[in-house]
Amino acid sequence: MSISRRTFLSWLGAAGAGTLLPLKGHAAGNRQFDGYPESMGVLHDTTFCIGCRSCENACNRVNEFPAPGVPFSDLSVLEKYRRTTSKTYTVVNRFDVKGKAGDQPGTPVFVKKQCNHCLEPACASACFVKAFKKTKEGPVTYDASVCVGCRYCMIACPFEIPSYEYDEPFTPRVMKCTLCYPRLMEGLVPGCVEVCPTEALTYGKRENLLTIARKRIQEYPDRYVSHIYGEHEMGGTSWLYLSGVPFTEISMREDLGNISAPMLTSGALSMVPMIAGLWPVLLAGIYAMTLGNQKQYDLEKNMAVKSSVEKAESHAKEVLAQALEKAKKAQQDAVKREVDKAAKAIHQTTAEGE
Ligand code: SF4
Ligand code: SF4
Ligand code: SF4
Repeated sequence: MSISRRTFLSWLGAAGAGTLLPLKGHAAGNRQFDGYPESMGVLHDTTFCIGCRSCENACNRVNEFPAPGVPFSDLSVLEKYRRTTSKTYTVVNRFDVKGKAGDQPGTPVFVKKQCNHCLEPACASACFVKAFKKTKEGPVTYDASVCVGCRYCMIACPFEIPSYEYDEPFTPRVMKCTLCYPRLMEGLVPGCVEVCPTEALTYGKRENLLTIARKRIQEYPDRYVSHIYGEHEMGGTSWLYLSGVPFTEISMREDLGNISAPMLTSGALSMVPMIAGLWPVLLAGIYAMTLGNQKQYDLEKNMAVKSSVEKAESHAKEVLAQALEKAKKAQQDAVKREVDKAAKAIHQTTAEGE
């Protein structure tokens, strides 16, 4: 049995809540995502997408990335499933699927992939220096100047989006779609949305996009499956998707559930100082998790829990010893005060008798 990121995050939360001593106050900083009702997003109606890659081209241009080896006009890249990279914030993939009724074998469906700009992002939740931030406008932004390169965000993201600049020797960054935040601040729409020739991408207030999506499903029940992907997944995302086929058929996970990452990790994140020491052990477990090696994973998990318990116990002993020492000193001081008081009284009585 393989272990999902979500299971891992849940376990992480449980480990934090159950095995570590409560240290003061770092959790609140990471649990700041209450959602922004006015925030913007994009609705990707995959039934309109023709796989032209114009969005990829625009993204490359607005982010000033180097030209790719294969030009954007070459659609042969669609033969293979692709993921985003540190120099490709968005990719379009083709899926040859059966139609909704199962009667159209081999119908291609094109799906654009990029950061989903979660309402309560796992990447931000995992980042203890707060390099990732959910803005009130919608985009999840990244501040390279505070990033320590730990890459926990990459592990935490349930959509496998952030990429690391491994080829950057001096100042490698974690890279992902910004939802064109600088453009939005200038009153422009995201680059990909601007160029899409079929209106497969619609930019707008998330609430309005949900209304549009619901209306389309209601008016064209034969065209769409009755599910707006991103409305609730992992607590909701700013990118929303409509599809004519089940989302699992276009490689979109439907097993993520609706609980946001901060809820899952809250226990662990409230113990940031302790967890900081624990992370390397946990990371070893991640490798096992990635490989689907249950035995190795259990071993790493037990090691991590054992390590955290030992640290908690040693911390508890230290605190107890300090408290006993303090009490002993307070007791000695009290005795000394009483002795001094008695001596003073005797001295006074003697002086009066003379
Ligand atoms: S999709 Fe991944 S990288 Fe993007 S906001 Fe969500 S957790 Fe962060
Ligand atoms: S929103 Fe901007 S950065 Fe994100 S995929 Fe579109 S063009 Fe690229
Ligand atoms: S530009 Fe629009 S139609 Fe073309 S691949 Fe991108 S989302 Fe699809």
